[in-house]
Amino acid sequence: MPSLAPRPDLDSLPKYVPGRTIEGAVKLASNEVPGGPLPSVQAAITAAVTGVNRYPDNGSQALRERLSRRLDVPAERLAIGCGSVSLCQQMIQALCGPGDEVLFGWRSFEAYPIVVQVALATGVKVPLTPEHGLDLDAMLARITDRTKLVFVCNPNNPTGTVLHRDEIERFLEAVPPHVLVVLDEAYKEFVTDPEVPDGVEFTRTHSNVAVLRTFSKAYGLAGLRVGYAVAPEPIAQALQQVYVAFSVNSIAQVAAIASLDAEDELLARCREIISERTRVRDALLEMGYEIPPTQANFVWFPLGERTAAFAEHMLDRKLIVRPFPGEGARVTIGTPEENDLMLAAAKEFQAI
Ligand SMILES: *Cc1c(COP(=O)(O)O)cnc(C)c1O
Repeated sequence: MPSLAPRPDLDSLPKYVPGRTIEGAVKLASNEVPGGPLPSVQAAITAAVTGVNRYPDNGSQALRERLSRRLDVPAERLAIGCGSVSLCQQMIQALCGPGDEVLFGWRSFEAYPIVVQVALATGVKVPLTPEHGLDLDAMLARITDRTKLVFVCNPNNPTGTVLHRDEIERFLEAVPPHVLVVLDEAYKEFVTDPEVPDGVEFTRTHSNVAVLRTFSKAYGLAGLRVGYAVAPEPIAQALQQVYVAFSVNSIAQVAAIASLDAEDELLARCREIISERTRVRDALLEMGYEIPPTQANFVWFPLGERTAAFAEHMLDRKLIVRPFPGEGARVTIGTPEENDLMLAAAKEFQAI
């Protein structure tokens, strides 16, 4: 007799560990920005509330057109998703059949192996360089006839490291045309290094490059779930085909447009985070920590076996960080006050 049971392979699915939330603690675990929505964005959200008896626009047309003008990309090459995590999953569903291979650096964004396995594709994890960056040569060497997609997270979550234009150009020249390269640029707005390219430029010249962006980080809308892909037109259309109907809600669509309208103000807030990032990293280096150069809104502590103890130590001081036990801890840059608390606790940990 057949029996009712979920797919047995789901037991081996890696767990997505959301940053913990504890009453009264400082949350530096999920790479959110510390500031709430700007008054203009709040006003747009409030105004949109009156329409929630209606289904949202399934194609997010107004947002797509706004982004099309902003990025100078035809609307047909844009897909909006319920967060860019959803677009990662849609990419695989659109491109991969069972057993097809998806390549990514490791450690990189923890959602990649999960969405790969859910879609019954095969994830191929390629170790980072000793400097904690993506190893493009090693990734190239792992491409096979079964490879459909490569995720390149730039800056890389959780290490904050970046790839430069010339490195990506060389990689794209060598990647065979049957493989889609997905540049995940969730932290793009925090990048100050001029050698880091804008991935959208590659989508103008290559038919196998896509870019993922999100409103969750620099634009401060993590709770509303909206991101977008810039892709070759057939891929953007396929993303729409596997889209869960109406999953980008109407408030998210309106808030994303209002955030683009307020982009200057939001990017000014990012500049404060960027200057704090420099101050925090310098202070940690001074204390003797190894902290890779970061272009994102977080720092990576490659603490290896000391990681769990570090996270516990921080938690005792009401600071929530994101440990990857045995590897390292990722700590989001917060307000100057929050960062001072974190630095004081990190200094104590060094003395243990
Ligand atoms: C945070 C993050 C995302 C964005 O997630 P959303 O689903 O848009 O909130 C995508 N990629 C990486 C690497 C991230 O760190």
